Amino acid sequence: MAVSLLELCNLCEKIKQVSGKNIKTSMVADFLRKTSSAVEASFAVYFIVGKIPPEIPPLNVGYSLVYDAIRHVSGISDKQFLREYSRVGDLGEVVESVFRGSHKTQRLFVEESVTIKEFYDILRMVGEVSGKNSRIKKARLIESFMVRLSPVEAKYFVKNLVGEMRHGVSEGLMEEAISKAFNIPVEKVRFAHMVTGRLGYVCEVLKSEGVEGLEKISLKPFQPLKPMLADMAKSVDEAISTHGGKTSFEFKLDGIRVQIHKKSSEVRIFSRRLKDVTENFPEIVEKIGREVKASSLIMEGEIIPVTEKGEPLPFQYVMRRYGRIKDLEETLKNVPVTLYVFDVLYLDGKPLVNKPFLERRKILDEIVPSAMLTPQIITSDAGEAESFFRKAVEIGHEGLIAKQLNSTYTPGVRGKKWLKIKKVMETLDLVILAAEYGHGRRHQWLSDYYLGVKNSRIEKEGVGEEKSGAVSFPDYIERFNQGRFKVVGKTFKGLTDNEIRMITDKLKKIVLEQHGRTVIVKPEIVVEVAFSDIQKSPLYSCGYALRFARITRIRNDKNVEEIDDIEKVEKMYRECVKT
Ligand code: AMP
Repeated sequence: MAVSLLELCNLCEKIKQVSGKNIKTSMVADFLRKTSSAVEASFAVYFIVGKIPPEIPPLNVGYSLVYDAIRHVSGISDKQFLREYSRVGDLGEVVESVFRGSHKTQRLFVEESVTIKEFYDILRMVGEVSGKNSRIKKARLIESFMVRLSPVEAKYFVKNLVGEMRHGVSEGLMEEAISKAFNIPVEKVRFAHMVTGRLGYVCEVLKSEGVEGLEKISLKPFQPLKPMLADMAKSVDEAISTHGGKTSFEFKLDGIRVQIHKKSSEVRIFSRRLKDVTENFPEIVEKIGREVKASSLIMEGEIIPVTEKGEPLPFQYVMRRYGRIKDLEETLKNVPVTLYVFDVLYLDGKPLVNKPFLERRKILDEIVPSAMLTPQIITSDAGEAESFFRKAVEIGHEGLIAKQLNSTYTPGVRGKKWLKIKKVMETLDLVILAAEYGHGRRHQWLSDYYLGVKNSRIEKEGVGEEKSGAVSFPDYIERFNQGRFKVVGKTFKGLTDNEIRMITDKLKKIVLEQHGRTVIVKPEIVVEVAFSDIQKSPLYSCGYALRFARITRIRNDKNVEEIDDIEKVEKMYRECVKT
């Protein structure tokens, strides 16, 4: 019998109610054993951990879209919803209680139960929506499915959409449950998961082919692995102390991350999202074939734009030339590019992921020409690392990546073995014009801020023509302030929990208008904001947006008259285009 969505939801409810790790593991293992097909077992794995299967295109569905869909389906008012969400703080739980209380949804329940396959079919459809009006199309699809669900099903549907299960089943626990269900050592499950990056698939293989199938899973060319990711460090000192002394520092190149796979004469290139982008880079394919000494290989690197003379260019140059870029690989197809490699994961039939980084890098040195290697130094001297950092930034790169010398390669994991140290531009003093309540842990705090600069041009240009048609929220905030400020960014980054609490209290006292979970406030609170770059952007009426903005300080010592001006933003933009 096909697994129904309801059965899975009931299981999740039961898991939530028990507290021991072993008991949770056994409950999941029993369920996996009882599933009637390998595909269903795989779906159950993804559902329980609340991860969208990698085969499904990214949903790009945020809280606000889900929130709109819930309101539409249940008929709940903004006010009621906000009250409930502020009380409970978990979107899934709110949906369940709203569904129980709403006549509209009760009337729509249908008798036949929804299968888990139908659940993933709808997610796939949402992921496949693209182009104009995609937000609305996605919301309609979600709504059309939601009306078929009971309260508990709607709850877990939403929890899967926003990736917040909160019942204590991590991927680690799921690995143990799979190992228990099929009576296989957990190390074997972990290895297969690491290699494929697809836990559901590992379960599927075990269910259909048993341990023999699992043992066939190994690192091999043309089967891309999830890339290892870097945490953030504030300085080279921090990286050296985290890594306990000698550290490898490499340029942090600003392009697209690629995994190069080669077997005999065939070369394929995969993007960070494991998409095959080989066709976009014929010159790189040719270069690998010509210059790399290996019969089979998986290595990683970054493809970056270069000048006509072949000198490296930071990626921002391409962004500036092409404006906002949706598809990086497509864009790079049209500019001269080059490849720099920084890791090797497999060579001539042997996986290297469990070897220390230093050894992997030495192997890389032997198989690729030195010009193809990402510039690197190994040092424990902060001064030396600092000048290497300055050199990287002067050339126009983003900064450095510090790598722990004895670290293994852990696919898909963001951790401290790799640390990125990025350049920070000058800061700007900005005013908070509006703020949004956060989600999850931050649901009762105003933690996401719209930031504005002074608009000195208003005297010359006036407020401007009233636009017809829909006005974006940033434009609305500007009009609300009679054009005295220009929005240049939005951020939820940089402040500590205590600071957010404090700022929430202050903001609540100066609210001028409420729009759902967003408030427009009196322009009073000044913050210092750091960012990595200024981009041309159609998002805001001033035409610029701060990239990776984060608040570095609350400027209690400054008042709104003293904040920076739009002219300064323009000047900074012109300067960074020149560098
Ligand atoms: P971020 O995207 O800010 O998390 O930074 C990590 C990304 O930096 C990686 O995914 C790579 O695309 C990129 N990167 C640039 N240079 C290097 C390098 N030398 N080693 C590893 N990753 C690098």
